[in-house]
Amino acid sequence: MGEENSICVYCASSDASDAVYRDVAYRLGGVLTTRGYAVIYGGGATGSMGALADGVVAAGGTITGVMPRFMMDLEWAHKSLTKLHVVEDMRIRKHMMLSGSHGLVTLPGGPGTFEELFEALTLKRLGLYTNPIVLVNTRNYFDPLLAMLEHAVAERFMHPRHVGMWQIVAEPEDVPDALANAPEWSAAARSFARVL
Ligand code: AMP
Repeated sequence: MGEENSICVYCASSDASDAVYRDVAYRLGGVLTTRGYAVIYGGGATGSMGALADGVVAAGGTITGVMPRFMMDLEWAHKSLTKLHVVEDMRIRKHMMLSGSHGLVTLPGGPGTFEELFEALTLKRLGLYTNPIVLVNTRNYFDPLLAMLEHAVAERFMHPRHVGMWQIVAEPEDVPDALANAPEWSAAARSFARVL
């Protein structure tokens, strides 16, 4: 873990969604590799997760998977990863993925992806994760979720400054610039974590 310039990617395990989601994941793997980033992700072979890994491997990049033992037993792991860490449970997996990364990219996904994204947002609000968080809004998938977050600000469950915790891009090719240009964030975020 902890490769220089590692980016954590959270995305879907589903193969049933529109093929564009897997195409975007594959392209993201290529783009991150070309820009010199290593990738850390959940280690899966299916859905956007598998496509992401295929994209990194095809581009000659470095991709590390982190997978709980029970998923290994189910043979869910991608077979061509640079490294695969087998961990005891989902919590350790998430901690390892995020703490070993210098930025997070979230692609459309299901509840697993939401959970991972919201944990990262919660940690960032508390100044415990200070790296960029970039969402790729393929097919405007995240629009309802972004509306909910804006609603949370409007209802004063979050501070307007918290909107600066995430960046939204349309295409995977936009991700490197979004990572590079994300607003600074630090442990000082604690001072406005609580909405008064
Ligand atoms: P979701 O967005 O609900 O598809 O969840 C993606 C996350 O679910 C992954 O990061 C994993 O935690 C987990 N997951 C669910 N199914 C699989 C699978 N077949 N292979 C690997 N991870 C999976």
